[in-house]
Amino acid sequence: MLALSLLAAFAAHAATGPEFDAKRLSQDVKVLSSDEFEGRGPNTAGETKTVAYLIEQFKAAGLKPGGDVVKGQRSWTQDVPLGRFEIKGPVTLSVSDGKTVQPLKQGDDLSVRAAMNGSRLVDFKNAPLVFVGYGVNAPERKWDDFKGQDLKGKLAVVLINDPDFETGEGDFGGKAMTYYGRWTYKYEEMARRGALGTIIVHETAPASYGWNTVKNSNTNVMYDIVRKKPAEAHAPMEAWIQRDLAVDLFKRGGLDFEALKKQAQTRDFKPVELKNVTLSANYAVSAQVIVSKNVAARIVGASAPKETVIYSGHWDHLGVGLPDAKGDKIYNGAVDNGTGIAALLELARAYGKAPAPARSVVFLAVTAEEKGLLGSEYYSANPLYPLATTVGVINMDALSPHGLTRNFTISGSAKLDLLDELIAKAKQWNLVYKPDPKPEAGHFFRSDHFSFAKRGVPAISYGSGDDLVEGGVAAGKKLEDDYTTNNYHQPSDEWSASWTFASMTHDLGMLYALGRDLADSKVWPNWAQDAEFRAARDATAAQRK
Ligand SMILES: [Zn+2]
Repeated sequence: MLALSLLAAFAAHAATGPEFDAKRLSQDVKVLSSDEFEGRGPNTAGETKTVAYLIEQFKAAGLKPGGDVVKGQRSWTQDVPLGRFEIKGPVTLSVSDGKTVQPLKQGDDLSVRAAMNGSRLVDFKNAPLVFVGYGVNAPERKWDDFKGQDLKGKLAVVLINDPDFETGEGDFGGKAMTYYGRWTYKYEEMARRGALGTIIVHETAPASYGWNTVKNSNTNVMYDIVRKKPAEAHAPMEAWIQRDLAVDLFKRGGLDFEALKKQAQTRDFKPVELKNVTLSANYAVSAQVIVSKNVAARIVGASAPKETVIYSGHWDHLGVGLPDAKGDKIYNGAVDNGTGIAALLELARAYGKAPAPARSVVFLAVTAEEKGLLGSEYYSANPLYPLATTVGVINMDALSPHGLTRNFTISGSAKLDLLDELIAKAKQWNLVYKPDPKPEAGHFFRSDHFSFAKRGVPAISYGSGDDLVEGGVAAGKKLEDDYTTNNYHQPSDEWSASWTFASMTHDLGMLYALGRDLADSKVWPNWAQDAEFRAARDATAAQRK
C-alpha cells in the first residue's frame, strides 16, 4: 500500500510541474568542475570553456540570446570590464600624536586596500582623524551619525556592524545586521561624503570574523567593476585598524573609546575629532583592466515581454592557485558554484519546454562573484533589462548535491514579499523555511542577489536545507561541517559520483513554480515597509503599472 500511495503522490507531482533530472545535474557539475575547466577563473582559458558550455546548453534548451546588443542583435554574453588593483612597493604608514611619530605596519596594525578611486599614488601627511560612530545615515530610521560633519581631507574612523548590535535591541534589527552594519556600506558612505579615507575599527564579535580574515582579504589584489566615476564609489584610503591600537589612539587624542561607543548607540551621537592625532600614508597602486563575461539567456514573455523575472548564479570560481597538501592546484568549485549553474541550466531546460510565460524570464550566469560579487554588480549598474521592471531575482549559490531535506533557507535574513511567497510555495513541496541562524553575520549582503537588492529589486539567494529526510539535522550538519572544513574554497571541492542530487531535483520544482507564478502574474512584490531597500524600489514605482 505504501508503495502504491507513494507512486500516486509522484504521479500527481509530475502532473503539476516539470521534472528535474539528477543525471543531467550531475553531468553539468562534472563538466564544469573538471580539471579541463581550470577552476573557472575569470579572464582565463577556463572562462572561455565555461562560457562556451553555457551557451551550448542554453541553445539546446531552446532559449534566445539575452546579452549585449551587438549590431542590432542580442548576443549570449555581457562584457564585464573589471579593474585589477595591487599595491606596488612598500606601504609607509605612521601616526603622530603631536609629540611622537609611530610607524605602523601594513597587515599587522592597519590593513590598507589598494586604492580603487583611480589614484596611482596615495600620499598624504598628517590627516586628521574623526570618529563618526557607526557612520550611518538612515533617513527611514531618522538616524544620522554625521550631523553635518565635513569629512573632506579627513579620515573617518568608524565602528563595524550597526548601532543596536551591542545592546541587541533597537532600530536596526537588534543582533541582526542591517546593510548599515556591513563594511561595504561604510566605505561607500564615506566615498559619498568625499572623505580622504575610511578606517574601520576591527572587533571580532560585531565583524563576525577575526583580524586574519581582514588582513588576508584587504592586503590582497583587489578587483572592482570599471566605473565611470570611481571616486564616487571609493575614497583614496580604505582600511581597517586593530582595536587595541584604535583604543590607544583615542586615549592619546583625549577620548574614551568605550564611552564614545556607548554614545554612538544613540541618535544624539555627534562626530568627534581625535585631538592632535594624525595619520600619514604613502603607497603606490598599479591598475589594469581585464574583461570577463556574464552569460544571459532569455525566454521572451508572451504578453508582457518588457517585464523580467531573473534566475541567477555565478559561474566563476577561484581558478588555479596555491597547491594543497596533495599538490592539487585546481580549485574546481564543484559545489561552489557548479551546483548553482547546473540548477540554472535545468531550470532553463524546463522553461524551454513549457509554453512561454506572460513576462520574460532571464537566466543569468554571472562572473567574478568570488572577487566581490562583481559580475552581478556590473549587471545591476548596467542592466540588460531595466531594474525598475525586473519583478524579482532568484539566485542560487553552492547548493547541496546530497539527499532530500525537510527544510530550505536563504542567504541571510531580510523582510520581503518574495521570501513570503517562497515560504508559502515551499509548503506544497513539504519544505519548511529555516531562518538564518546567524543574522548578525550579514550573510544577506554576501551573495549575488544583493547587487540587485541594494538597488531596490526584490532578490534572494535560495539555500539548501540541513534537515535530511534520512538522518535528520545531525546528518545535515555533518555534511555541512565536512564541506566547510575540507572542501570550501579548496582544490578538493570536486565532483563525486556518489552525489544523488535528490534535494536539488526536488527543490528546483519549487523554484520553478515560484518564478513561473511571478512570470505569469501582474504582481510586483516589494520589501517590507521598514526594509532598508524599500525606498530605492518605491523611487521607481511610476515605471510599474
Ligand atoms: Zn565561493
